[in-house]
Amino acid sequence: MLVGVPKEIKNHEYRVGMTPAGVYELVRHGHQILVETKAGLAIGYDDEDYIKAGAMIAKSAEEVFAKAEMIVKVKEPQAVECKMLRPGQILFTYLHLAPDPEQAKGLLDSDCVAIAYETVTDINGGLPLLAPMSEVAGRLSIQAGAHALERHKGGCGVLLGGVPGVKPANVIVIGGGVVGINAARMAAGLGADVTLFDRNLNVLKKIDNDFGGRIKTIYSNHMNLEKAIRSAHLVVGAVLIPGAAAPKLVSRAMLKEMKKGAVLVDVAIDQGGCFETSMPTTHENPTYVVDDVVHYCVANMPGAVAKTSTLALTNATLPFVVELADKGWKQAIKDNPHLMNGLNVCHGNITYYAVARDLGYTY
Ligand code: NAD
Repeated sequence: MLVGVPKEIKNHEYRVGMTPAGVYELVRHGHQILVETKAGLAIGYDDEDYIKAGAMIAKSAEEVFAKAEMIVKVKEPQAVECKMLRPGQILFTYLHLAPDPEQAKGLLDSDCVAIAYETVTDINGGLPLLAPMSEVAGRLSIQAGAHALERHKGGCGVLLGGVPGVKPANVIVIGGGVVGINAARMAAGLGADVTLFDRNLNVLKKIDNDFGGRIKTIYSNHMNLEKAIRSAHLVVGAVLIPGAAAPKLVSRAMLKEMKKGAVLVDVAIDQGGCFETSMPTTHENPTYVVDDVVHYCVANMPGAVAKTSTLALTNATLPFVVELADKGWKQAIKDNPHLMNGLNVCHGNITYYAVARDLGYTY
């Protein structure tokens, strides 16, 4: 199969859908890879690296879309990309279609076969192509929080790990899923005093077992949270209720009870945020202050570490890319129900129930 990798064109998107290692693997499987010139340059992969791995280089996105049987990307196709998709062409990328009627129309009109990273499942009922970005965001949340705690950034001037003779910072992590566990692990590694809240007792048991008490666990209810928030220096919001907006767990009134210069990092901002005062921010302008509490609410945190994020994402996507290229989409989804769960658009129809329902299409 001829697999195409265009350069990402969304604002400040530096990730790329395939690394030279991915190209090498696909070439070993007998496929041809066409990579748009400079597709990986922003994260240190130049055209020469791709050529050495066995790729051909295309001069433009138009050339990639015109020739490839499957397009492998990172972000959802922008309007100009939707227009370049061809009937029957496979598109494998993040789509996040439910809130995006314009993109849905573009994909339907193109007559392509679009498989979304975010709805591919695994044997444990997890979302294996979303998890790597949650790992990145969880780990990054502590780096971001540590910077925001610095005095000149508006924070209270507390070092997460303290020093001998000076207490470490109090870090509260709300939600013990992929983001939360990675945040808690990083904060504990830096020597902070970490407490993790979740409503799922099995999650709390597992964390208690895995960390031998190094990360404290508390059942997440309003009374427990209100009490803990008062002494926190850094609070990471990492909750998710699948398919629903994030619950508001820290109200504006609670901010007044917090330490001046405390920091809230709302990783759940892409689901509306779990703090009442959260508003989406950007990497250029990541923080703002409400009632003396610093807020960091960047909605695409993994983009800040595009190289790590690309490697983490492509580690997870490559086996599926290989399966699609080896078998073609029809046989691949027939053989693999997890890949079948990724099918969102097929020849002018929305084929994923929740997306069709939210966009008002028949399913
Ligand atoms: P996950 O499903 O692995 O974990 C969510 C956890 O929240 C679960 O353990 C659940 O029991 C817990 N939870 C639900 N309600 C709770 C409550 N009231 N109190 C305490 N815990 C509660 O999800 P995840 O992969 O860790 O993702 C968390 C959030 O981070 C999601 O909204 C996700 O979209 C977001 N995210 C954002 C970025 C970004 O760049 N901002 C990147 C990746 C993920």
